[in-house]
Amino acid sequence: FVGDYVAPNNLLKDKIILVTGAGDGIGKTAAKTFAAHGATLVLLGRTTPKLEMVYDEIEAAGGPQPAIFPMDLSKASIENFENLAEAIDQEFGRLDGLLHNASLLGQRTPLANYNFATWQEVMQVNVNAAFGLTKSLLPLLEKSEAGSIVFTSSSVGLKGRAYWGAYSVSKFATEGLMQVLADELDGVSNIRVNSLNPGATRTSMRATAYPAENPQTVVAAEDIMPTYLYLMGEKSREHSGKHFSAQKR
Ligand code: NDP
Repeated sequence: FVGDYVAPNNLLKDKIILVTGAGDGIGKTAAKTFAAHGATLVLLGRTTPKLEMVYDEIEAAGGPQPAIFPMDLSKASIENFENLAEAIDQEFGRLDGLLHNASLLGQRTPLANYNFATWQEVMQVNVNAAFGLTKSLLPLLEKSEAGSIVFTSSSVGLKGRAYWGAYSVSKFATEGLMQVLADELDGVSNIRVNSLNPGATRTSMRATAYPAENPQTVVAAEDIMPTYLYLMGEKSREHSGKHFSAQKR
């Protein structure tokens, strides 16, 4: 458990980090936190005004000027991912960190009732897009002296739970993607690959999944950032192929 890690202010100085779903929730807080620790952010998300707001907040806080890349991962093709990689290559020449954070919750209903189109969209955003992005960005991560890929997991990605449908299955697949890639890169690459379960966190996804819950009783995204910083920073260099939890419970 590294949730009590205290990061130095310059932990991510000169690092180039891409965060998906950077316009809201945990991704927004992670982007701002990485920038506050010196990183230059590539903000990817589907709602441009939200990304612009994060951009403005990072600039106002004196962080390095970020780049915005609007993309709807439910519709994105491998060409879109290749174009993104080319743009990052031209602008920065490499990528040091990749946080796969964007996800769809989908329906909360028994599999017998689960809508097939919703199933496909959840798998598209949570799994297929993460694979495509990873594949396209690997050459740029190889150019980093120590690249870090972090996949966002969930407790329902380790043990299936009734009514969590495609979301739960997508998080199992996310763990699989992380493990296969980590094993492939073991010993032949400077890239480390891990998964991170944020745990219950106060966001709109959490409020949708638990409508009866008082949000004030749920941990804020700011409070889980130590683990995000740990996995992006040099302290985690020796770790790959592992599952981390940002919260104790
Ligand atoms: P939110 O729903 O609050 O934020 C998700 C972000 O992903 C939003 O910025 C959203 O964009 C973006 N996104 C969704 N679909 C797409 C898409 N098709 N293309 C591009 N971007 C997209 O979720 P959280 O912050 O709560 O969750 C972040 C991660 O943490 C997810 O992977 C989630 O599964 C995981 N997680 C969260 C937990 C929690 O308690 N909050 C618990 C366990 C895991 P937009 O704002 O434009 O809709």
